[in-house]
Amino acid sequence: MGSIKCIGILTSGGDAPGMNAAVRAVTRAAIYNGLEVKAIYRGYKGLITDEIETFHTQNVSNIIQQGGTILKTARCKEFMTPEGRQLAYETLQKHGIEALVCIGGDGTLTGARIFASEFNFPIVGIPGTIDNDLFGTDNTIGYDTALNTIMEAVDKIRDTATSHERLFFIEVMGRDAGFLALNGAIATGCEAAIIPEIATENDQLGELIKNGFRKSKNSSIVLVAESPLTGGAMALAERVKNEYPQYDVRVTILGHIQRGGSPSAIDRILASRMGAASIDALLEGQRNVMIGIQNDELVYVPFSKAIKNDKPINRELLNTLRILSI
Ligand code: ATP
Repeated sequence: MGSIKCIGILTSGGDAPGMNAAVRAVTRAAIYNGLEVKAIYRGYKGLITDEIETFHTQNVSNIIQQGGTILKTARCKEFMTPEGRQLAYETLQKHGIEALVCIGGDGTLTGARIFASEFNFPIVGIPGTIDNDLFGTDNTIGYDTALNTIMEAVDKIRDTATSHERLFFIEVMGRDAGFLALNGAIATGCEAAIIPEIATENDQLGELIKNGFRKSKNSSIVLVAESPLTGGAMALAERVKNEYPQYDVRVTILGHIQRGGSPSAIDRILASRMGAASIDALLEGQRNVMIGIQNDELVYVPFSKAIKNDKPINRELLNTLRILSI
């Protein structure tokens, strides 16, 4: 493993603020350690279509503060087929790339895991997704920034909610995970969060209505994770309109503003640490691991664990939200 001379780097899946800071850190740490760096554009798609460029330190200048990803990102169906992955492997060989650093979410790491085992190819993953849904890491890159974006947006909506004495359902991202909804709700003093993790346990909207919306306040805001398990904010609002017409209900779907913007200090630092750690990992001979952070310590999490295990929601947070919304 000590013989790796050239690494490839890509970003894949949904973009997340801080991906650029990670690209910068991987590139600079690799060059610092005497490695050559090849940037792969558009995630796995660029591996198949051969969109590759050699990166030097100046290629990653002035990007630490930028949202999105300068490497672009894509969803690539072809990489899900053995034929597509064979083409990707041939591109890697053509460019002399001996190891990969893949930055992305659950799907990206699943693809990395399959590719690594098929071709016995060293890959290290970096968790870059606003959803914070990867097991084995306390935080993913982009999550903190997205949470802050949600906080600012909800604070603004609260002005209207209060002035008009309305009930607002605000939908936030999190297809399979309620981290953004739950922590966003705590950070903005919301009435409740409706999240996928407990969707099968109880009827969260029913409970909320049964207990009565906040009696001491003249408006209520509920954050809803966009997941099919919650039904989404529109469906919940329809249900309230039909069953409880006394409520003046409004819906806001925050959408893609949650993905954009300059990364927070926390995300920049996390991305820088994880990026540098990915090169240490490769030089130490690690493979098929995701860099994680647990109690502020960097750790290596096998792909199999990071992908397969559902990251549990902290029940204490649910209770805190419930207590503070009286
Ligand atoms: P986000 O959490 O932001 O959605 P993600 O990494 O989970 O990011 P996906 O679109 O799920 O985003 O996955 C990114 C890419 O990873 C896919 O477009 C595909 O190329 C690859 N990928 C995902 N699952 C597999 C799989 N089972 N086999 C091979 N490749 C896969």
